Amino acid sequence: MRRHRNVKIVATLGPASSDYQMIKALHEAGADVFRLNMSHGEHSEIAERHKIIRMIEKELNSPIAILADLQGPKLRVGVFANDSEMLENDAPFRMDLSDELGDQTRVQLPHPEIFAALKAGAHLLVNDGKIRLRVDACGPDFADCTVINGGVISNRKGVNVPDVVLPLAALSEKDRKDLEFVCELGVDWLALSFVQRPEDLLEARELARGRAAILSKIEKPSAVACFDEILAVSDGIMVARGDLGVELPVQNVPPIQKRLIRKCRAAAKPVIVATQMLESMIESPMPTRAEVSDVATAIYEGSDAIMLSAESAAGAFPIEAVSTMNNVAIEVESDPTYTEVIEASRKADRKSIADGIVSAAREIAETTDIKAICCYTQSGTTALLTARERPRVPIIAMTSQMETARRLALTWGTNCVLSGEKVRFKEAVVSAVRAAIAGGYATQEDQVVITAGVPFNIPGTTNILRVAPCNERMIYAMDPE
Ligand code: PGA
Ligand code: MN
Repeated sequence: MRRHRNVKIVATLGPASSDYQMIKALHEAGADVFRLNMSHGEHSEIAERHKIIRMIEKELNSPIAILADLQGPKLRVGVFANDSEMLENDAPFRMDLSDELGDQTRVQLPHPEIFAALKAGAHLLVNDGKIRLRVDACGPDFADCTVINGGVISNRKGVNVPDVVLPLAALSEKDRKDLEFVCELGVDWLALSFVQRPEDLLEARELARGRAAILSKIEKPSAVACFDEILAVSDGIMVARGDLGVELPVQNVPPIQKRLIRKCRAAAKPVIVATQMLESMIESPMPTRAEVSDVATAIYEGSDAIMLSAESAAGAFPIEAVSTMNNVAIEVESDPTYTEVIEASRKADRKSIADGIVSAAREIAETTDIKAICCYTQSGTTALLTARERPRVPIIAMTSQMETARRLALTWGTNCVLSGEKVRFKEAVVSAVRAAIAGGYATQEDQVVITAGVPFNIPGTTNILRVAPCNERMIYAMDPE
C-alpha cells in the first residue's frame, strides 16, 4: 500500500484485533508491520492471525512484515496464602526457593539463577517496578531484603533484577518451542526479549536458520552497556521502553532512545521505538498532547518505526490509534525542521561501492527533478543503505525475493515492489519505471534514478547508477539493444 510518510508503523495484534476485517482495516489505516506477542495467545490463535495477514497481503499485493515477539526469561514470584499481601516501607521481606505459600514476611522466587548472581546492595523490583526491595544478605537459596518502596504484592507478579547480569539462557523452553512454531508458519522478524549480551543472540540465530531476521529488544541496563556489540550481531533493534523504564530510572530512557536511534541509523539497521506511545488511546479515542509529542519526537529523532502495544491489541480504538500515528507522521515529515534535523544527523561513514552509489543517488535526486530512487536489492542491503541516506524522494525497493520485501516493511521509507528476476540491465530499467508509474510516484514525463548490481542475482554487487526517463519509448531510443 502506498504510504504518504516514511516512518513505519508496527501494530500489535491481540483480542481487539484478531479478525480479518479489523486486521485489514489496520493495514489500510497505516500498519506496515504486525506484531504477534508470544507472551499471550495460544498457538492456534497465532496461526490464525498469521493466516489472515498473509491473505490480506496477497489480496492487496502489499508486502507486510510479521514480527513474532518471544517472551524471553520472564521472572515471577510464587503464590501467597492470601493471594496478596501489603508490604510496608522499611519492613523486612525474604525471597527464597521454598514452595510454601507466601505471607507478609516471605514468598517463593523459583529461580535459583537469581540467587546465584545476587549481591548485597542489589535491588529486586516487583510488579513493573512499583515495589522495590533492597537485598541486605543472600545465599544460594534466599535473599533477605528491606522494603524500600512498599505496595501490594500478589501471586505471580513479575520481577526485574536490574543490577546484575543474570546467568539465564536467553531463550526459555517455551521460547524455543515458540520460535520453531513461528518460523515454520513463516514470520519475517523474531524479537528477543531481555537480551543481556551479544552471545544471547547465538542460539536464536542457530535455531532460526535464516528463516527470520532477528531483532534485539533493549530493556536491560546490561544491554545498554554493551549496545554496540549487540547491534553488531542483530538485524534490528527495539527500544523497549516499558521494561527499560522499570530497570532504569525513567528519566534515563529518553537519552538512551536518542542514542540508540542514531547508532542504528549509522549501522543501517532498523530501529523501533515501543511502548506507551499512545497509552491513553486504550480507553479514549483522543490521545493526550504529551503522547502526540512523544510519537513526533521518535520521528524527529529518525526512528525507522513506531509501535503500538495494548493500544491496538486490547484497546477500544485500534484503528484510531494507527490513524493518529499516521497523521502525526505526515505532519512531522512535512515540517522543514524535520528535514533539517535528519540531514544534519547523516553520518557519512562510507566504505563500499554501494555506499557511494546510494549517496550519489540521493544527491542527484535532490539536485534535479527526480521523482524516486528505484534500487534493486536481493538481500535488502542496498535498500537499507539507501534508507540510511534518508533521501527526500521516495525509495522504491525492487526485489525478486518476497522475504526481502517483507523484512524491509520495517525500514524507514522503503516501498517494496516484487519484480521477477532480471538478466539484462535495460529490462531492470523498464521494470523500475513501470513500478514508479504504477505506484503513482511518477508520470511518463518524469525521471527516476535507478541503482542496480550487474551481473544480477549476486547479492552485494550494486555498481550501476542510471538516471532514466519514465517514457519507455525514450528508454529504447537511448538503448536500442
Ligand atoms: P513487552 O516489551 O511489551 O514485551 O514487555 C516492550 C517493552 O518492554 O517496552
Ligand atoms: Mn518488555
